[in-house]
Amino acid sequence: MAYNQDIYINSSETISGGAMEASGYITGREDLTRAHREALAVLSNSNEKVLGTLDRMIGQWEEYVQGHSDFPFSKLLNAIAFAAQKHEGQTRKDREATPYIVHPIGVALSLWVEGGVRDPAVMIAAVLHDTLEDTSATQEEITLLFGVHVAKIVQELTNPAEMSSEEAKAWQIEHAPSLSFEARVVKLADRLYNLRDLREPPVGWSDDKIQKYFGWGQKLLDVLKGTNAEIEQQLQAEIDAHSNA
Ligand code: ZN
Repeated sequence: MAYNQDIYINSSETISGGAMEASGYITGREDLTRAHREALAVLSNSNEKVLGTLDRMIGQWEEYVQGHSDFPFSKLLNAIAFAAQKHEGQTRKDREATPYIVHPIGVALSLWVEGGVRDPAVMIAAVLHDTLEDTSATQEEITLLFGVHVAKIVQELTNPAEMSSEEAKAWQIEHAPSLSFEARVVKLADRLYNLRDLREPPVGWSDDKIQKYFGWGQKLLDVLKGTNAEIEQQLQAEIDAHSNA
């Protein structure tokens, strides 16, 4: 695919590096952002929800990088491009069947805006968190492109193969105490996003199924308490709102 080469330019460079300029191809942050936005538009059929979420996320990073020149802006964009390609063709379970990539970007956005998370490794892991489990992405690929630390966090967030969703939920709670801090915070934001999505349940989901899902959410929250106060508070609020509804 042609955009492959376009978006993986200088994946190891930070925006302050000179190699990007020297390449004569992408000359600045604006061009870089535009190239990525165009790629994501192609991959998501110009889905408004996807592009809106992307714009909000990029807007946050753009503002931040002005005071933090070592923030790996281009690497974060590359993570989104990588995840978008890997999740291409997959959709969320919502009624609009939104392209799947809206979810990992939304999880990163929630960590950033609500959780106050500024660790680039956590951001990248958030964007990649479902790639090992649900796409052709491999641990080697992620290690090569984003480093051992990120790859390890994504691995932690991956359910063992061939588990039913019910088994996986139980397994996650069992294994939650052994997760790294980075994996915990992504896990909480992931669950927050998914529970918020259930405000409009997918077609065919019974009340019982939804109820169970919130039950698992509460258990997970109880096990992971003490990780990120704001995300936990939001998660509890979402669970409470559901049980009072
Ligand atoms: Zn997820």
